Amino acid sequence: AKQSGKNKYHYYSSELDEEYMRNLNILTGLKDAVSNDLLDLHFQPKVSLSSDKIAGAEALLRWSRGNPHSIRPDEFIPIIESTELIHNIGAWVIQESCRACKQWHDAGHHITVAANVSALQLTRANFYDIVVNALEESGLEPHYLEIELTEHLLIQENKLVKHQLAALTSLGVSLFIDDFGTGYSNMNYLTRINVDALKLDKSFISQIADSDDYRVIVTAIIRMAQVLGMQVVAEGIETEAVRKLLCGLDCDYAQGYLWSKPVENKQFMDLLESNLAH
Ligand code: C2E
Ligand code: CA
Ligand code: CA
Ligand code: CA
Repeated sequence: AKQSGKNKYHYYSSELDEEYMRNLNILTGLKDAVSNDLLDLHFQPKVSLSSDKIAGAEALLRWSRGNPHSIRPDEFIPIIESTELIHNIGAWVIQESCRACKQWHDAGHHITVAANVSALQLTRANFYDIVVNALEESGLEPHYLEIELTEHLLIQENKLVKHQLAALTSLGVSLFIDDFGTGYSNMNYLTRINVDALKLDKSFISQIADSDDYRVIVTAIIRMAQVLGMQVVAEGIETEAVRKLLCGLDCDYAQGYLWSKPVENKQFMDLLESNLAH
């Protein structure tokens, strides 16, 4: 038993080394991508379910160039979030989102842009200034900017976070709760913080056509949001069956491959021109 325990230890330890080295390589690659301007934003339309028209877009970070192993966001974003890089990249995401949205407005499309914000960004006192500067520099009106945040940070009481969110919402910036309902059951923060919308994760949404349980949960969340005066965005809609169900439940907005994958700004502007029917 001792012998196998020892082998086991070596096995895990070399596996950890491997993971560590891999993350270190990714991090080096990311730093290079930042200094050489190799990161991009793609945009996925957010569609109004009642009109089937584009009402906004979510900005999603992409590392397409100088990424030899095609590392995907689900892997590289947590690595960014574990370092100081998240503050620079996060600020860039907000600036670039505001600029793109202003460009859509200038082309006659008055839609919103949603930027994903990592909880860590809000724990720095200059976050508010970063957003205000991005709005001023781009000329975008604040109420066209939506900030998507996961629940993580909001369940703890943090004065700085609360203060900065209150300052931003009083400017007109909207606050969306991303991946609502995946992982935290404490919803007290909804009474403390001015939340404009809940985003339902694709892990729920993709199942509602096949699972009564998921349909009941999604129905209940939509009703709760309505009572609390919040909007609901469903993500990950891939089928007509799911779209119809969500329409029937009076869900406000939807995103998913049924309409479009996230695409480059140029392509997104073509989608805006065609203004969409799935
Ligand atoms: P998220 O915010 O929940 O974004 C939704 C993810 O679902 C995106 O993955 C999107 O491409 C994908 N998706 C959209 N529609 C469909 C669909 O119909 N089917 C399927 N299977 N997937 C769909 P992506 O772009 O790989 O991003 C993954 C996660 O990385 C995001 O999840 C978000 O948490 C994070 N992320 C992306 N961009 C940023 C960013 O700029 N900043 C931060 N902090 N996080 C980001
Ligand atoms: Ca670029
Ligand atoms: Ca999001
Ligand atoms: Ca999600």
